[in-house]
Amino acid sequence: MRNESLNHESVPAGLEQFVPPTSPATSGHAAGTLVDKYGRHITYIRLSITDRCDFRCFYCMAEEMEFLPRDHLLSLEECLRVIRTFVAMGVTKVRITGGEPLVRRNALWLLREAARLEGLKELVVTSNGSQLERYAAEMVEAGVKRVNISLDTLRADRFKAITRVGELDKVLRGIDAAVAAGFRGIKINTVMMRGVNDDEFIDLTRFAVAKGIDLSFIEEMPLGDIDRSRADTYFGSDEALALLRPHFELVGSSESTGGPARYWRIPGTRTKVGFISPHSHNFCDSCNRVRITCKGELYPCLGQNDALPLVPLLRAHPDDDAPLRQAIVDSMGIKPKGHDFNEQMHDPKVVRFMSMTGG
Ligand code: SAM
Ligand code: SF4
Repeated sequence: MRNESLNHESVPAGLEQFVPPTSPATSGHAAGTLVDKYGRHITYIRLSITDRCDFRCFYCMAEEMEFLPRDHLLSLEECLRVIRTFVAMGVTKVRITGGEPLVRRNALWLLREAARLEGLKELVVTSNGSQLERYAAEMVEAGVKRVNISLDTLRADRFKAITRVGELDKVLRGIDAAVAAGFRGIKINTVMMRGVNDDEFIDLTRFAVAKGIDLSFIEEMPLGDIDRSRADTYFGSDEALALLRPHFELVGSSESTGGPARYWRIPGTRTKVGFISPHSHNFCDSCNRVRITCKGELYPCLGQNDALPLVPLLRAHPDDDAPLRQAIVDSMGIKPKGHDFNEQMHDPKVVRFMSMTGG
């Protein structure tokens, strides 16, 4: 979409929250800026391209999952159209996620096409690493700048227990392939769980240092109903930081990768250690993103249930992006001030698993 028709003199009714730039030259392309009702600028989307996964991590999915029929998913062409529309409205960073995005057939096609979009500065992927040995080099060639790889443990038996089916070796080979492929950034994501992997935070940090990559520790979020109480295994960022401090020199950093992590550098290494702390250091005030599920629902907030279905618009107006743009603008009006994960740890209300919304 080009939005030359939108200018300060004539902002169409309902598009007030889509603020065009003073001049296309200031933004480098004729895009505007999406602003929600709390004044937060939305510059980042996360798009889940599949709910399927080759793992069944016990904090993310039920053991027996019923996945969506394939014809309920956005086609890859529709995914590209959604991305293109957001980018034309000022989004500069897109994360492709899932489920496991790399198990979707032709995912590379989408990555290649998205990376070419004018105005998109950063195309990034979140992966469980299982397919990276095969795809890492192609992803870099396609234009993917960074990859986040999930790794909660370095012990093969524990890895199997957490993922229910995954092979640690395959993921470790995937991480090596990613390092060799030359991504601009690689980050390990570790979900912190008391009594499950809290005895490995030091080893995981050493691992990241040895590989010359970054690592983020994530507080577990109450997304989807699982067969244990998440409150029992909750492990907070401050405790993890205290656990690491005697073993690593950690120097606070103001760096940001456009996400909610707070970072610490380890001097003399290439590694940053980050903490994503939705419970203990709520970052909703600076939220800059919305999420789109693989079936085309636009969720303005990971932690709430309000969503706008995009598929009817996409399919009813195959050649006209205006209704899609309007829905995106409307979503700014329903983006809540924040999540309430702390209360939800005891009384979960978001029934979607992370694999559905896209992490
Ligand atoms: N399959 C890919 C992967 O595992 O990286 C991408 C999708 S996965 C849903 C994205 C991230 O969400 C992973 O780092 C995963 O560990 C994290 N995640 C899943 N469920 C979570 C939860 N309940 N709380 C916190 N993080 C979660
Ligand atoms: Fe799959 Fe990623 Fe969820 Fe694990 S965290 S089950 S790898 S989508």
